[in-house]
Amino acid sequence: MEKELKHTRSHALFQEAQQLMPGGVNSPVRAFRGVGGEPVFIDHAEGPYLYDVDGNRYLDFVQSWGPMILGFGYPSVLQAVIEASKRGFSFGAPTEAESELAKLVMEFVPSVEMIRFVNSGTEATMSALRVARAFTGRSKIVKFTGCYHGHADMLLVQAGSGVATLGLPDSPGVPAETTANTLTVPYNDSEAVKELFKLYPAEIAAVIVEPVAANMGLVLPQPGFLETLRELTSQHGALLIFDEVMTGFRVALGGMQQRVGIRPDLTCFGKIIGGGMPVGAYGGRKDIMQVVAPIGPMYQAGTLSGNPLAMAAGIATLKELRKPGQYEALERKSLLLGEGLERALRNTRVEAQVVRIGAMFCLYFTSEPVTDYASAKRANTDRFSRYFWEMLAAGYYLPPSQFEACFISLAQEDVMLEEAARTAEHVLRKLA
Ligand code: PMP
Repeated sequence: MEKELKHTRSHALFQEAQQLMPGGVNSPVRAFRGVGGEPVFIDHAEGPYLYDVDGNRYLDFVQSWGPMILGFGYPSVLQAVIEASKRGFSFGAPTEAESELAKLVMEFVPSVEMIRFVNSGTEATMSALRVARAFTGRSKIVKFTGCYHGHADMLLVQAGSGVATLGLPDSPGVPAETTANTLTVPYNDSEAVKELFKLYPAEIAAVIVEPVAANMGLVLPQPGFLETLRELTSQHGALLIFDEVMTGFRVALGGMQQRVGIRPDLTCFGKIIGGGMPVGAYGGRKDIMQVVAPIGPMYQAGTLSGNPLAMAAGIATLKELRKPGQYEALERKSLLLGEGLERALRNTRVEAQVVRIGAMFCLYFTSEPVTDYASAKRANTDRFSRYFWEMLAAGYYLPPSQFEACFISLAQEDVMLEEAARTAEHVLRKLA
């Protein structure tokens, strides 16, 4: 366990990549800045393991940030993609596979009566909000502090204090006018949302929410929170959008909406429905989705949307996930690891907590309850960083940030998770 991993080739590749791409990466968290170090360059992956370019092996808890719930190189998925690629990479024309994936999603997520496939989660949320605005004829949207819905301008709004923070852009390059209609309130704060609807009873087009917030670590919705959002939006003629890019087909076959029994008007998907290929989707009530071109006036398009390889990977993945017992297995694995980590915390007396739901979890380095972004930010990120590097050295690839969720896959065997918990205890003892 005390092995020192060599990262010579990763280091050399990172030196070069930094000259070629901003920060050497094509998506910021990958650069490992959240833990103050250099990223590991991946060579290939198999089952539950990642292999880096220096030949080190890691048990992977990132899973390409969610999609690889079956593990890497899953035979039926691999075969489906190989066969689809022989028929052609992309036609820009309708294929049967699009309907097949659409039917699969709708079978498990009944609130989705009509769907449109796109290429990323960002496109899904951006388009769903455009639909909501087109359908309601209203401009304002409500989002929650610490929820991430992709990088569309109007959604890059930072946290603010007070009940209602009128949107200020999070990033230079986003004009204030673009975010002026984005209202932000703390996660789990039903009262704040009520206040917003009092202030703007007929101006809010939609409330968009991660039904489990997985971009500030892992924050569960408190009982009644999602229900209140459903009631308030219905009362005021606004739409409720569940961003299930992360939770869809992960916390249950029917996503978080199945677990809480709430029917949103629109749902956004990504990640698992593409089995690791670039995919997103938005869908929901048929009367609403009928505003989308070409049957409706709201324009949204994509050259590669509904891409045959992505559809093939998605179909094969969902077919595997619908087999009996899969989510029970994921739940059992998640519980096994969660309990192991809790035991490790008790034994080492490190101030931290495990938050867990379905096949996702987070080890927060704080003992205070985490209910929103402000409380999540109280976590000790220095301690997380030390934990992260020690775990990496021991052969565990965790998300390189305290504010990202970890994922369990069906490829992770129980013994691997038991060993992971033992290693975590060993590491935590060093930090204590
Ligand atoms: N919504 C949620 C809940 C997400 O977690 C993410 C990405 N992690 C997105 C949207 C954006 O998806 P993408 O990175 O595919 O654009």
